[in-house]
Amino acid sequence: MNQAALESEYALEVYPRRGINIVRGEGARLWSDDGREFIDCAAGVGVANIGHSNPVVAEALARQAQTLLVCPGIFHNDRRGELMQKLIEHAPVGLEKVFLCNSGTESVEAAIKFARATTGRTGLVTAMRGFHGRTLGALSATFKYRDAFEPLLSGNSFVPLNNIEKLEAAIDDSTCAVILEVIQGEGGVRPAKKEYLQAARRLCTERGALLVIDEVQTGFCRTGRFFASEHFDLAPDMMCLAKGIAGGVPMGAVLCGERVSAGIGVHGSTFGGNPLACAAACATIDYMVEHHLADRAESLGSEFSQQFLAEQPASVRELRQAGLMIGIELKQKATPFLQALLEEGVIALPAGPTVVRLLPPLTIEEDDLDRVIRALKKVL
Ligand code: PLP
Repeated sequence: MNQAALESEYALEVYPRRGINIVRGEGARLWSDDGREFIDCAAGVGVANIGHSNPVVAEALARQAQTLLVCPGIFHNDRRGELMQKLIEHAPVGLEKVFLCNSGTESVEAAIKFARATTGRTGLVTAMRGFHGRTLGALSATFKYRDAFEPLLSGNSFVPLNNIEKLEAAIDDSTCAVILEVIQGEGGVRPAKKEYLQAARRLCTERGALLVIDEVQTGFCRTGRFFASEHFDLAPDMMCLAKGIAGGVPMGAVLCGERVSAGIGVHGSTFGGNPLACAAACATIDYMVEHHLADRAESLGSEFSQQFLAEQPASVRELRQAGLMIGIELKQKATPFLQALLEEGVIALPAGPTVVRLLPPLTIEEDDLDRVIRALKKVL
């Protein structure tokens, strides 16, 4: 039995598969067991921002694995403290405390709990097309993938992104948090407007709710800034992080401001902040800073846009791009194009039915990005 068949035999199939068995990755390249090579514009769904199998992370992991793998939150740990300091150094003004967990959905789950415990309220206001994860709390804030799991948390309202009036009408004295992505990822690479986010900030302050910004997909240099909130001069009460944080090792984090007062005894995690993930995250953040990956994402992203738009294919309705977070809105369904791109050696993602999404490693070589553009033009 080959390895793909082996997985098919045993896996509970929750993912639509692409029929490829990936066995190795380096930088922006992936290889399958039959020797095919791909340029990876999925990056583990926006995770491998510093490239696959980055040696700096591999070394940090090996060193830490031989030193200390496990250290629960009841003890302090050197790597954990170092990571928390690095996160706060890069965070928007006002975020001062860190809670560590193991994924994006866990970070949103924790933020919801902190918001409830802080405000004594339960209502959430979130955006249509927003994606915040799949545990029952985080799913309650997510627009799709809900039907099979109802009833979820009650008292939530979904508002259209960028409509200040509807947002204003939705936030009331039962709202514990407004949870927003500054650029919706799964929902189609759709940016929020600065005035909308600023209005959300103002309304939350006025009405005693907390503003939670979900930077799980947009964080860690992806959009041309260390955190995408910088594009919008935004100061949230909490920020949710995961994906690119630890170079591919599972980790999530919530950064909290002074209005978040929920503390000892309200939440926890066995693996959250384990020294292995913290060592990987410290190495990842250092790598991003040393290699100016935010600037690199910014300049490669605008080069991509210029080249792509110079001769926009007829099947394209709109290009939405911030750094190396790229959404190509098509006039038709995206799936056949994703398959055609795969045949050209380029792995891309959908983001809703008609959007091809590209989230390549921020270390991608210019030549590889040119190849991606050529493949896109051919296929589209
Ligand atoms: N929030 C956002 C904005 C995401 O894009 C995702 C995942 O795609 C999540 C939360 C959930 O993260 P995870 O899959 O690590 O649980």
